[in-house]
Amino acid sequence: MGNSFQIGKIFGISIRIDFTWFIVFALIALSLSTHYFPSEYEGWPTSTYWVLGIITALVFFASVLAHELAHSLVSKARGIPVDSITLFIFGGVARISDEPKNPGGEFLMAIAGPATSVAIGVIFGAIYYAVGRSNSPFSALTAWVARINIIVAVFNMIPGFPLDGGRVFRSIVWRITGNLRKATRIASSVGKVVAYIFILLGIWSVINGNWFGGIWIAFIGWFLLNAANTSYRQMAVREMLSGVKVRQVMNNQCNQLPKGLVVKDFVDEHILKTAGRCFPIVDKDEVLGIITLHSAKEVPKEKWETTRIEEVMTPFDEMKSVSPDDEIYTVMQHMTEEGYNQLPVVENGQLVGMIARDNLVGYLNARLELDR
Ligand SMILES: [Zn+2]
Repeated sequence: MGNSFQIGKIFGISIRIDFTWFIVFALIALSLSTHYFPSEYEGWPTSTYWVLGIITALVFFASVLAHELAHSLVSKARGIPVDSITLFIFGGVARISDEPKNPGGEFLMAIAGPATSVAIGVIFGAIYYAVGRSNSPFSALTAWVARINIIVAVFNMIPGFPLDGGRVFRSIVWRITGNLRKATRIASSVGKVVAYIFILLGIWSVINGNWFGGIWIAFIGWFLLNAANTSYRQMAVREMLSGVKVRQVMNNQCNQLPKGLVVKDFVDEHILKTAGRCFPIVDKDEVLGIITLHSAKEVPKEKWETTRIEEVMTPFDEMKSVSPDDEIYTVMQHMTEEGYNQLPVVENGQLVGMIARDNLVGYLNARLELDR
């Protein structure tokens, strides 16, 4: 999520608020203050409705945060680090940097959130009954917070991956089949069906005159559909690449080129005649830079005979490098985020190869083709 800022840290986890959160916060506070509370509890001053609406909305978001913290703490306890929790338009999301290692772990991580929502709901419900139902703002707050937490728990237990219920479902399929990728595929398909049901329900509501509610439900469906698609793809790639190191995929046939070579000779004698895709330009054992097919293409053809390769190379000290022992998945994410097509692989200060997106794509295709 691009537009968020940190409000603090809890247990070392960065707590962030996305700007879309303000929209939903305002909507909830507004509808509580101007509609729900005035119609359920009559005869209070207007300011009371407003203060109560805002406090109730804040307590609601604190419980959403507690829900996400529960996921995060179980995850941390099982050795999977959590970067941040972000509150946004649809609630909260914890950024967990890895997938659970086994179905049991996934089940506990997924169930922790809804269990916390139920617990909060039960506690507020108990307080509501303990203090006695009355026409007081406190009673109004406890009743609403209790109900909304139960709704949050029920909504999250809908078996549409990546909702919590979908994760619980996936962990069960994972336990039965012993295959995470297959489990993710099944859970995502169910997630898509759930998403389509939401979209259809939304459209149906709109047709029946419930504009706001209908559009909202369809919007949630659309969000779930996207989430089911992306999380499956990410998951499949990540699972396939887990444990694969740069060393296994990199190009290590480095053809060293002398300084002073012109682009035409580089293309004719090296690119077209060798299988190598790693071309360091070397002067007295020192790597000056890297030249690629891409940088040669940037030079107009009529200048190929007069342009020397060091004029178009990427200087070595300007390049980010990776280690042969880095995990491919991390490197790939990094390349996508920063827009690199290839990176030099350096070990003990020595260039040992190049890693290009082509290598990764080729590797992934081979794995997919062979289904292993
Ligand atoms: Zn959750």
